[in-house]
Amino acid sequence: MTDRYAVLGNPIAHSKSPLIHAAFSSQTGQDIHYERILVPLDGFEATVRELITQGYRGVNVTVPFKFEAFRLADETTLRAGDAGAVNTLIFNQTNVVGDNTDGAGLVRDIEVNLNRPIQAQRVLLLGAGGAAEGVLHPLLERKPSLLVIANRTLEKAQTMIAKRPTSDTELAGCAFNDLSGQQFDIVINATSAGLTNAALPIPPTVYAADGLAYDMMYGHDTPFMQQARETGAWAVDGLGMLVEQAAEAFYVWRGVRPETIPVMTMVRSLLTC
Ligand code: NDP
Repeated sequence: MTDRYAVLGNPIAHSKSPLIHAAFSSQTGQDIHYERILVPLDGFEATVRELITQGYRGVNVTVPFKFEAFRLADETTLRAGDAGAVNTLIFNQTNVVGDNTDGAGLVRDIEVNLNRPIQAQRVLLLGAGGAAEGVLHPLLERKPSLLVIANRTLEKAQTMIAKRPTSDTELAGCAFNDLSGQQFDIVINATSAGLTNAALPIPPTVYAADGLAYDMMYGHDTPFMQQARETGAWAVDGLGMLVEQAAEAFYVWRGVRPETIPVMTMVRSLLTC
C-alpha cells in the first residue's frame, strides 16, 4: 500500500516539496504519495490529528508552524530539541516524533555541494526565527571561529545566544546596525525579508571579497543576493538546502538516502523556465 506524506504550511501553494519527494520516490523505488496541505492558522494540531487518523506516515512542516509542531510532538530528536523547532514529524504506531532536518540540509549544501568548509570561518547568521534556530546547532558543530546572529528584533538574537552552552566558537548577538566594521567569510540570510523583496539594512562591508552569501530563500534573486554580488561575494540561493533538507527527511522516513544533485537540477530548470 502506498504510504502517504504531506507538507503543511500557510501559505503552501508555492511549495516544491511534492515535486522533490515524487522525484526521490521514483529514483529510489519507494512507494510514497506526498501532497501539500494548506492548514488554517488556528488548525495545525487538528489537521495533524486527522492525518494520523487517516493513516498518513509523516509530514513536513513549514512557515508558520515549526514551533507548534515542536510542542505537538510526543518526543523530539536531539537536533529538533536543540532548535526548539520541528520541520519533520514521524507518525509511529504509538507516538509522534519531531525532527529538524533544516540544519543538516544547509550544512550539506554549503560544505558538500558548494565545497565551502565552515570550520574556522567567520559566519554571520541573519535572522532569529524558526529557520535560524534550526540551523544554529548544526553550524556550531562544524566549528566556525566566530558566529554572529544579527536580527531586526535584537532581543531574539540575544535569547538564541543565551540558550547556547559554551563552545569553541566565539558567539555574539547584535542588531543589523551593529555590523559596521565587521567582515564574514560566510553570510547566511535566514530572514524572510526576501518574501517581500525587502532589502536588509546591513552594510555591504560585511561580505569578504571571495566570501559566500547564502540566502535560504530560493527561486528569485533577492536584494540580499544582489547586494552581496555587487561586493564580489558568491551569492547563492537556498534551493540546495531545500532539496537536502527534503532528502534528510526522506531518509528519516524511509531509511533510504536519495541522490540530490539531479533533483536540484530538475527543480532549478522548472524555476527558470
Ligand atoms: P520566521 O517567520 O520564523 O522568522 C522570520 C525572520 O525574518 C525573523 O528573524 C524576522 O525578524 C526576520 N524578518 C522578517 N521580515 C524582515 C524584514 N523585512 N527585515 C528584516 N528581518 C525580517 O521564518 P523562518 O525562520 O521559518 O523562515 C525564514 C526564511 O527561511 C523564509 O524565507 C523561509 O522560506 C526560508 N527557509 C528556507 C528553507 C530552505 O530549505 N531553503 C528552509 C527553512 C526556511 P524579527 O524577529 O524581527 O521579526
